[in-house]
Amino acid sequence: MRLFDTHCHLDFDIFDRNLESLISECRLLGVDTFLIPGTRVSAISKILTIQAQYRGVYVAFGIHPFFIDENSIDNLAVLDAELSTHHGAEGLVALGEIGLDKFSHVDYVLQKEVFEAQLRLADVYDLPVVLHNRKSDQVMLDLLDRYSIRAGVVHAFSGSVEIAREFISRGLKLGIGGVITWSSAHKVRSMVEQLPMEAIVLETDSPDMSPQWLKGEANTPKSVPRIAENLAQLKGISVSDVAEITYSNACELFGICDAQSSEKLGSDWL
Ligand SMILES: [Zn+2]
Repeated sequence: MRLFDTHCHLDFDIFDRNLESLISECRLLGVDTFLIPGTRVSAISKILTIQAQYRGVYVAFGIHPFFIDENSIDNLAVLDAELSTHHGAEGLVALGEIGLDKFSHVDYVLQKEVFEAQLRLADVYDLPVVLHNRKSDQVMLDLLDRYSIRAGVVHAFSGSVEIAREFISRGLKLGIGGVITWSSAHKVRSMVEQLPMEAIVLETDSPDMSPQWLKGEANTPKSVPRIAENLAQLKGISVSDVAEITYSNACELFGICDAQSSEKLGSDWL
């Protein structure tokens, strides 16, 4: 059984001391593939160092809505240059984490500008996007249409089934993580129950979004197997099916591995 953590911030300082042992422990649990999304341009070199050091680590470059500051114009130019340098290299598989967040301290108009600039880059470099979305469904859907984004993932998706359909019909996957492990998360659990498996990829958002059993402690990709178990229970299928389908979905999304193409979604679902 192989599992893919499609969203873990292994470049964050909290992982510096134990990254090697953490990755070994993950592999023993079957979690052998990871995507580290970028949050700011100053972290790109660290992300690339980690990627070069460990098998199964893939990366994305991007400016997260919480890390936009007064240097955003310069940072966008740096991002463009880094994408141009590393485009086509095996480890760089997406543009992200980018998006819109109504709870960010950053001005929403500025967030939109930086997000749009990065969608343009995704189009230019033909990369799937890793999206961060809080309370911005419709604005985001409109922008995805305007920049003809065809592939990506809405990370930590917790919206309604109707909004899920909107994203899926645009070719996007939905990142599902620790939230479904909380018995109190009735709305999200019932939404996930109704999603087609072909649309789901697994993630932790480590060190954030702790599953219930970590009780607020820092999250790690070691949580993926138990998240997969929770998903298997919700869907009434085996954990090995969850692993196989979500791994293949992630490979298809990022254009890596020899993903067997997932079955086409039934048009009646959409
Ligand atoms: Zn994140």
